[in-house]
Amino acid sequence: MRRRFHRQARKAFARQIPPILQEANLAFDKGDFGRAAELFERIAEGADARGGPRAPLLHLQAGRARIYAGQTALGLPSIKRGLGLFAERRQFQRLVNAQTRALSELKERGLVNEAAEIDAWLKTIAPSANEFATPLPPSKKPVLPTHCPQCGAALRPDEVEWLDEVTAECGYCGSPVREEDP
Ligand SMILES: [Zn+2]
Repeated sequence: MRRRFHRQARKAFARQIPPILQEANLAFDKGDFGRAAELFERIAEGADARGGPRAPLLHLQAGRARIYAGQTALGLPSIKRGLGLFAERRQFQRLVNAQTRALSELKERGLVNEAAEIDAWLKTIAPSANEFATPLPPSKKPVLPTHCPQCGAALRPDEVEWLDEVTAECGYCGSPVREEDP
């Protein structure tokens, strides 16, 4: 109880993290992908309506959760929306990172036709994305915690924005995240 209160209080001071985002990340980590998908879809639609910077990743995570839940047909529109937003916003490096991950996740699950469909569709909406972006060079960035301490999202070096040499911004909630103290 005490500890929980302390954690809540600290969060409140640090930044308002929507509880629905924490719930979505928790459901995803627990393997409750159907529930996670519903929550991420709601969060993504809200962020999208506001033109929020985190809308693309949230759509992609909603789509991923649907795919993991075996609901491929429901997941593909979210994946397209996420990738489409990166293209619209001309965030080509992020588009290339996200499309590489999405296509390999689909193929890993045997969804080869779906991967091919998305690949073909991407060439129509962002034909030149690959000219703008190259795969990330090996990076000497500090090692981040595996999960955002604020919202609980899994952190990936190619999905965070680096604010400075040691600080990254969580792609899901916008909290600054640093290498954990040794
Ligand atoms: Zn976060």
